[in-house]
Amino acid sequence: MYIDSHCHLNFNELSEDLENVLIRAKKSGVSSILCIATKKDNFQSVIDIANKYNNIWCTIGVHPHSVESDDIKFEDIIEYYTNPKVVGIGETGLDYHYNYSPKDKQIASFKMHCDISKETNLPLIIHNRLGEKDILSILTHQKKINPKLTGVIHCFSSTYEFASKCIELGFYISFSGILTFKNAELIRETAKKIPLDRLLIETDAPYLAPVPYRGKVNEPAYVVETAKKLSEVCNISLDDIAKITTNNFFNLFNKIPHV
Ligand SMILES: [Zn+2]
Ligand SMILES: [Zn+2]
Repeated sequence: MYIDSHCHLNFNELSEDLENVLIRAKKSGVSSILCIATKKDNFQSVIDIANKYNNIWCTIGVHPHSVESDDIKFEDIIEYYTNPKVVGIGETGLDYHYNYSPKDKQIASFKMHCDISKETNLPLIIHNRLGEKDILSILTHQKKINPKLTGVIHCFSSTYEFASKCIELGFYISFSGILTFKNAELIRETAKKIPLDRLLIETDAPYLAPVPYRGKVNEPAYVVETAKKLSEVCNISLDDIAKITTNNFFNLFNKIPHV
């Protein structure tokens, strides 16, 4: 069984045909799905989806792209954490590639999400594009004030150096369909060196469909392609990759009852 640790089921591309998306996921062996909020006006939709299906959970937070428009406050997020289906904080992080929101606001929001993680004891879902330096300095500081700090660097597309520092800080590394892309040799080299107990897999659907589905709408069923590539890269059986990444998921998102 596989777990898609990061996708956006509430986005139109998936929500309009959600029943069939979930049937195909089940057929592919995807047992659980984590649905990630990106802005204030989709908090309720990810919660509704998680409430409706017993194998789906969700996280609450504001993506760096939406920081400028959302003007989110600590209280806006914290009010959701008592919901049993809300198991993480994010996605948050820094995106200096698109810079849709000014840097200083992205940083302030990321720090606020770290504070919420500390307050709620829920793991962070971190998005990174070219923000390595600031992410490391913020997380290093946060670790000092909150030794229990943890989370995941999602859709990993950076260097081994960055991955290993995040791992030292207690974080997990999640690989998406990018791992299957022809030009992603460096990401595969990195994946090979990640300790097995820190690996996660995700689709980031509806985006980034893996080979052989590139160009199509991505969906949780396709997380299997990332698992296959990871098994090839790490030279361990697909069965073991499934077990390892599933176990890691429940270790990180430990609010979810693991039966
Ligand atoms: Zn992201
Ligand atoms: Zn995402």
